Amino acid sequence: MAKQCARCGKKLSFFAKGPLCEGCQEAERAEQAEYEARQTAVRTEVGRKIRSGELPSVNLHIEDAAPVLLRAGEVVHFWDKARLYEVRSVYAGYEGGSHGVSIRILKGVSYRIGSQKGHAVYKSNWLETSQGFLIVSNQRLFLYPRPGHKAVSIPLKKILSYQRSANEIEIYKEDREKGYVFSVSNDYCGETFAACLALLLARRES
Ligand SMILES: [Zn+2]
Repeated sequence: MAKQCARCGKKLSFFAKGPLCEGCQEAERAEQAEYEARQTAVRTEVGRKIRSGELPSVNLHIEDAAPVLLRAGEVVHFWDKARLYEVRSVYAGYEGGSHGVSIRILKGVSYRIGSQKGHAVYKSNWLETSQGFLIVSNQRLFLYPRPGHKAVSIPLKKILSYQRSANEIEIYKEDREKGYVFSVSNDYCGETFAACLALLLARRES
């Protein structure tokens, strides 16, 4: 049976590579190029504003999601899809006698082994605790969750410190010992969130 184009249903030639006819392959390439051009335009504009010390404002339109309910006077400066990681203690087994050592294996993963006879060992691990879309506004940093995940809303005035490393932003807030790490799509997005926070927090302090 002849295969059909997955997009327009036209019969594919015997020699066709992939699921699309030539016309549809061309159309997909054009759509992808247009999408990338639009993304680049948005990024260029956001980057230009931030470099000149201004906060960008962007449209918040998340595909296939219920509209995000913003608060009165809330302006969205930037958003991107994100995963949230938080430190959790995980039981790592029972250790026999040992000299006291603490071994750091990976970022956030360390074993602390005491010099007692034997005891339960826990490791601190950064675990993924939610995912959705991270939004930085003039009021807060907000994780708008995917269905089945938890929301996190951190008012700007409660942020004690933040640190960005590549595509990760680590946040500490008042009244909470443990931090949040938001992992966004790429370094560019990480940098943009950090730049928005820098501008917003400087404004808060002045
Ligand atoms: Zn086609």
